[in-house]
Amino acid sequence: SSELRDLLLSRIRDVADYPQPGVMFKDITPLLADPVAFNALVDALAGLCTRHAATKIVGLEARGFILAAPAAARARLGFVPVRKAGKLPGPTLAQGYALEYGTAEIEVHADAFGPGDRVIVIDDVLATGGTAEAALDLVGRTGASVVGVAVLLELEALGGRERLAPVLKDVPLDAL
Ligand code: 5GP
Repeated sequence: SSELRDLLLSRIRDVADYPQPGVMFKDITPLLADPVAFNALVDALAGLCTRHAATKIVGLEARGFILAAPAAARARLGFVPVRKAGKLPGPTLAQGYALEYGTAEIEVHADAFGPGDRVIVIDDVLATGGTAEAALDLVGRTGASVVGVAVLLELEALGGRERLAPVLKDVPLDAL
């Protein structure tokens, strides 16, 4: 709803020149610290999980964890972390991706999903879409189906939605 949208937007703070000069960073910590806004966000994410008949919820390290874990619990679903390389103890699948300068790698436990699992991927912010694209490729390689991507905030000018379109096909991308 537009009420939820206004509430969430009112609790996101712009921080200039972070993490480097010229970047306007969207800081979600005021939202997390506000019990009404945080609860409304978790409810909305849990509602999406239920609506898309998800069976597992993926959170992307690190801010994605903060949103995905309570949403999964509220929807009575399991949570699966997608982590930066080297953090997960068991056998993993890995996916590299390009950053503005250099490359990064994310991992998921190879046994995180079973046959028939329907996965929603949650992160805080969609910017260029590189992180989400890598996560979608990674989850897809496990054999699970991605049935949705949900973010708190989409930075539309950075083109993430367009970048993800070929990977998403008909899978919904919800920005709250
Ligand atoms: P992308 O890969 O889409 O370019 O960047 C998205 C990733 O970087 C997300 O994991 C997100 O947490 C982080 N990110 C990029 N820009 C911002 C921002 O302005 N605010 C926050 N909170 N995270 C950001």
